[in-house]
Amino acid sequence: MRKSVSRASSIITGLLVMSIGLNSTEYLSIYKLILFNKKTCMKLKTHFVFSIGLLTLASSFFGFSLIISAIISVLGNTLIDRLGHKEISTRYGKIPVRTPLTHTLPRSVFWGLISSMPVIIVLGLAYGMLNTKILTALIDGILVGPSHMLLDVFTENGIYVKRNGKWKRVALAHFSYDSSLINGLAIVLGIIMIFAAMELHH
Ligand SMILES: [Zn+2]
Repeated sequence: MRKSVSRASSIITGLLVMSIGLNSTEYLSIYKLILFNKKTCMKLKTHFVFSIGLLTLASSFFGFSLIISAIISVLGNTLIDRLGHKEISTRYGKIPVRTPLTHTLPRSVFWGLISSMPVIIVLGLAYGMLNTKILTALIDGILVGPSHMLLDVFTENGIYVKRNGKWKRVALAHFSYDSSLINGLAIVLGIIMIFAAMELHH
């Protein structure tokens, strides 16, 4: 947990540096740091970058909000994966599986909003409740869960949908959760969305 938080903060620092303006070599080294550091689970890291991009882009119509999006992305994705995974013992040893607690589309919206509450409260205390920053945080809170589901639906465990009262796993593709291809692609998409949001805001 502590490790992933420190990784998350280094990603946020990287993104903040990026928003200030970087040359291509610096940009590449940050990208490599994110993509090729295999010490921690790649998946959560990928969720962070992808969600930050999607949230920043979606809320960029109300103002550029990289910091708010980054905080909500880290809180939302961490909560959804911490609560939504359990370990089961198999003859191959312990393997992590997803549970329907957080990995369904409607529930992901709920957990995303819950995890953005601290941010909304802090922003409300600082700027008052009638503020575009609150609106940004709300949009981010609604979108962080679905942005997590969007990535997980391409992995082999998929996400859950209820059919005839039973939980069913649905996957659009069957990439392994640590596949460099799908993780790399999602990270690149996330970074492109951050740049697109910056361009829109100019
Ligand atoms: Zn997940």
